Amino acid sequence: MNDAWSAIYSQALALIEQVEPRVAAATRQELADQRASLKLIASENYASPAVLATMGTWFSDKYAEGTVGHRFYAGCQNVDTVEAAAAEHARELFGAEYAYAQPHSGIDANLVAYWSILAHRVESPTLERLGAKTVNDLSEGDWEDLRHTFAEQRVMGMSLDVGGHLTHGFRPNISGKMFRQRSYGTDPITQLIDYDTLRAQAKEFKPLIIVAGYSAYPRRINFAKMREIADEVGATLFVDMAHFAGLVAGKVFTGDENPVPHAHIVATTTHKSLRGPRGGLVLATKEYAADVDRGCPMVLGGPLSHVMAAKAVALAEARQPSFQTYAQNVADNAKVLAEGLAKRGVKLVTGGTDNHIVLLDVSTFGITGRQAEFALLDSGIVTNRNSIPNDPNGAWYTSGVRIGTPALTTRGFGPAEFDKVAELIHGVLAGTVPASAPNGPSKAKYVLADGLAARTKAAAAELLDAHPLYPGLQL
Ligand SMILES: *Cc1c(COP(=O)(O)O)cnc(C)c1O
Repeated sequence: MNDAWSAIYSQALALIEQVEPRVAAATRQELADQRASLKLIASENYASPAVLATMGTWFSDKYAEGTVGHRFYAGCQNVDTVEAAAAEHARELFGAEYAYAQPHSGIDANLVAYWSILAHRVESPTLERLGAKTVNDLSEGDWEDLRHTFAEQRVMGMSLDVGGHLTHGFRPNISGKMFRQRSYGTDPITQLIDYDTLRAQAKEFKPLIIVAGYSAYPRRINFAKMREIADEVGATLFVDMAHFAGLVAGKVFTGDENPVPHAHIVATTTHKSLRGPRGGLVLATKEYAADVDRGCPMVLGGPLSHVMAAKAVALAEARQPSFQTYAQNVADNAKVLAEGLAKRGVKLVTGGTDNHIVLLDVSTFGITGRQAEFALLDSGIVTNRNSIPNDPNGAWYTSGVRIGTPALTTRGFGPAEFDKVAELIHGVLAGTVPASAPNGPSKAKYVLADGLAARTKAAAAELLDAHPLYPGLQL
């Protein structure tokens, strides 16, 4: 199997090389780079050989706008098979009433979710009130009124600087241009979500939609409580589990921490902790299913059939018992990583983690997040800088570094390796100082202690060599 995989990719790269050698070379180099670094980016992972192979086929050549069994193009029977398989696996895996496998990315899945809610809660009641069947039956005036009504709707999501996502109603994203937005933060002392404050805010703001979910919050959310609050104010609960879907799929988040039984709509990416192809997915209650189904062509172009096929493969993998082991390891390893950092004196936002994310506050080392990110990268450790609550350095330089365990857990790292990773990270942070600039210490330039980057790289290489990425793949 591994030999076959090597042969397939060697031949594919030879083929590519004949047409555009730079792409073939970059593809080889990307594998070498991913093999040679400690990938701690919390949103990244390594998809399986089967998932990767499924993406590289002629399904990419097919147009299939519409839904399973109801397409606007002829000859979609094979696309129907793979899309239905992806949706079936998603429903079974997550215990969802309905699943839509077409979104091309997490942002697109969120757009489908938002417009399904608007269609269900704003458009449909308006059509009914005016006795119209579709929007095409509305007069110019009624249509203008409806368009204005869309723009008046309110959404409430987690603040960006405590770990929320741009797509949760913030101005640079279309969601912020579509909706009036108010955000909820975290408690200034505990740095945790305070559900009573959230409830009070919701009662005052009366949002149509409450968004729960994050990309840089290192804690679990109580979705039962979120639903209670949404019900109290008549809001639709939309959960964006893009980051932690793998922990839901792997049954680490259960009961109140599992969003699926509590939310009206759940959107996710498929490539982060879920470990599938780059793409999106929407889960919904029966109530919202018909609206979600109109995602294409409402906000999506023709489905990426090759990626839907790969979603089916990845979701089939996630239904196997080994995926639950992986997911539990992701959470256990994050705890070890957090404890390893904390015991060496690194300050952590919320003091620790109970998901896959650890958020470091590097200000105690006298450096910015940007300096920490670059110094770690020089040392073979790939992370990303991130704001921390009330960040004095703003969103560009930041004071935080976000790390996560999914990728290295997939690679086979366990507690011993993650404690070593914590030691290496601490070593780099402690050995980095800001360069001096005319007006005091620089926020961007930095100096690493002599030989530190090389020593750290060598130590990282030892860990990586013991857990090779795609071991059978020789190019
Ligand atoms: C990553 C992420 C997204 C966006 O996913 P893309 O596939 O990059 O479009 C949306 N929401 C949250 C919470 C995320 O973490």
